[in-house]
Amino acid sequence: MTAPSTRSRVVVIGGGILGVSTATQLVRSGADVTLLTEGELASGASGRSLSWLNTAGLRSPEYHALRQLGIDRYRTLAAREDVSAFLRFDGGLTWAPEGESLAAVIEHERSIGYDALWVTAEDVADVTPGVDPNAIATEGGIFNPGEGWVDLPSLIAHLAEEFTARGGTLITGTGHAEVVVEDGRAVGALTPDGRRFDADAVLLATGPGVPAQVAEHGIAIEDGSPTALLVWTKPVATDLKAVLNTPNVAVRPTPTGALALDSAWSEEALIVADDGTVTVPDGIVERLLEEASRVLAGNPRLELDGLGIGGKPIPGDGEPVLGEIEDISGYFVAFTHSGATLGLIAGELLAREILTGEKSPLLDTFRPARFSAALV
Ligand SMILES: Cc1cc2nc3c(=O)[nH]c(=O)nc-3n(C[C@H](O)[C@H](O)[C@H](O)COP(=O)(O)OP(=O)(O)OC[C@H]3O[C@@H](n4cnc5c(N)ncnc54)[C@H](O)[C@@H]3O)c2cc1C
Repeated sequence: MTAPSTRSRVVVIGGGILGVSTATQLVRSGADVTLLTEGELASGASGRSLSWLNTAGLRSPEYHALRQLGIDRYRTLAAREDVSAFLRFDGGLTWAPEGESLAAVIEHERSIGYDALWVTAEDVADVTPGVDPNAIATEGGIFNPGEGWVDLPSLIAHLAEEFTARGGTLITGTGHAEVVVEDGRAVGALTPDGRRFDADAVLLATGPGVPAQVAEHGIAIEDGSPTALLVWTKPVATDLKAVLNTPNVAVRPTPTGALALDSAWSEEALIVADDGTVTVPDGIVERLLEEASRVLAGNPRLELDGLGIGGKPIPGDGEPVLGEIEDISGYFVAFTHSGATLGLIAGELLAREILTGEKSPLLDTFRPARFSAALV
């Protein structure tokens, strides 16, 4: 464990996976931590995430390494505590649209030691259950046995229990909290009711809200966050265990025996008005349910249980933004896509940086300063 050295009073703003994970790591190290969040815990992107734990496909070596460590920390959690109700490692299955190929992707994955098997309609049932072989692309697809999924609201509740048990102060329903900056330093946070929480360091982990909030302090973080849609089905009889990443739908099981679904096309179909109101065009949800049924063995009828609509945090260059703002001492940010995969490792690395001031080489390419450097 890290002994608190330079900073011991920390305010974390944002009760999603990144805020709660970091706050828990901070109290484990003995820091005095207050976690503020505007509504309930997990009320943002973490409450409506597909949460596929993976580092599949092509990405920068640094991002791949961080994601691998992300999966490693989940493995450790699964080995040390009984979290099997909400954290599973039953693999991930991906196939491409007809006319495209994943041959180069599996080649790449194998070259970097990412466990990857080629599966076809004939052998898929031997590899993972619950998938309709007729739905798989003619060329086949990639099964990554080391992948998994997590139910983030359950994980957040699990971590928050430890956070409060270790003496952390959790304040929900704060409304829009702001970072207080004085003389070039982050010195605490202010809530709309006028309460001020003094601190030696502040972590802003407000998901898609981060770029606009740092902009108020003159800091640029390029924002590529779209409005996203997650569909939950009612519980359904299916043997599916893996996360499916298919051309028209991504599917993962949930702790209640239901399914969570999303896709790029349904996200792009959302209509977002200037005032932020989101309309889901007619037929979109029904089609997503049908697409999911089509990839499941037996093609079960899927019924809608609920929708999760809102911002999906994605930095403009696609890479995580983690660490201290260069020009404002003690002001840390966490803003990333794939925050489910990175949730535990990002919290661990950020907490260490916040408390010790020592910069982790693992975060070197992910620091917020890269955006201000791009403006010069
Ligand atoms: C549809 C969808 C699919 C996804 N699929 C995957 C996937 O397969 N794999 C993966 O790894 N990741 C995935 N992600 C991304 C992942 O879910 C997010 O990166 C992660 O949940 C972000 O967590 P966060 O803590 O940064 O933000 P959030 O979960 O958004 O939490 C931020 C919290 O801050 C609060 N807040 C905001 N502003 C303020 C304020 N001013 N004051 C106080 N509180 C505030 C919000 O209410 C919220 O509770 C997906 C996301 C979505 C939406």
